[in-house]
Amino acid sequence: MSVLVVGSVALDSVETPLDGMHEDLLGGSASFFSVVSSLIVPTRLVAVVGADFPEEHVELFRSRGVDIEGLQHAEGRTFRWKGRYLKDMVGRETLDTQLNVFEQFKPQLSEAYRDSEYLFLANIHPALQLQVLEQVRSPKLVACDTMNLWIDTERDALTKVLQRVGILLINDEEALMLSGTGNLVKAAAAIRAMGPKQLVIKRGDAGALLFDDAGIFWSPAYPLESVVDPTGAGDSFAGGLVSYLAHTGDLGPANLRRAMVYGGAIASFCVEAFSLDRFRQLSKDEVLTRCEGFNSLVSFEPVKL
Ligand code: AMP
Repeated sequence: MSVLVVGSVALDSVETPLDGMHEDLLGGSASFFSVVSSLIVPTRLVAVVGADFPEEHVELFRSRGVDIEGLQHAEGRTFRWKGRYLKDMVGRETLDTQLNVFEQFKPQLSEAYRDSEYLFLANIHPALQLQVLEQVRSPKLVACDTMNLWIDTERDALTKVLQRVGILLINDEEALMLSGTGNLVKAAAAIRAMGPKQLVIKRGDAGALLFDDAGIFWSPAYPLESVVDPTGAGDSFAGGLVSYLAHTGDLGPANLRRAMVYGGAIASFCVEAFSLDRFRQLSKDEVLTRCEGFNSLVSFEPVKL
């Protein structure tokens, strides 16, 4: 079984109140996703980088077992994103986005890649998500992320993507924007009517909500003493969730809830360091131990009067 992800591989500049500005860090939606997913399942990365992309970052993908046959190297500059976190380390403003090599990018999947069973359309222009979707033959699961920029400027292409998606993962702000409502429960119903059977709404340090036919499920964010850099937490959550589903091969509602907890555990590691640093050495055992921590966080005896 295999997971294929298309998304951004980026050089990020990130400013936090405590640590100031850190420049040219490895980032990008597909970077976080693929490194996380490779921990438990073979994962193929489809993206493009420019001539300025450091070899050490390619080496990180290799060392974590990411299949980088689909990582194109183009002339020009790598995609760049610059953001600043507010004091609460949840709110953030985007200071700059440069698509660079993504402007000319045409994903071309090899024969083997077209047979991928689990597809994740990480945050990237919806037209590129569609191009990949059209090349993969018969995926068992298509999961997808997007962002306010595309909801605002590429609504038609995004609508086409959503009609073909099984699980959509977006944050609360995006859910309200996409649905045009002011309430998350109403938003979930409206968005599920657009295509996705299951919807995951990510809420930063308030955890994530799953809406599906079984009802609503909440997975908390693990309470941490120190949050260094939240960048990529959403992509890491998605990487955890999708790879857990692929690893177990079970798309049933009970397993989806376990996948939400696994995703939450993975995301809690992401924020403990800048960039993908926390994933350089992370082991399955560490993740499992944190999943047990989640268990004790939310398990309780029935309330009695
Ligand atoms: P997250 O914190 O999970 O929302 O993901 C942050 C990552 O998304 C950063 O590493 C950025 O490089 C990447 N990113 C930001 N804006 C875009 C965009 N317009 N298209 C694709 N990736 C983006």
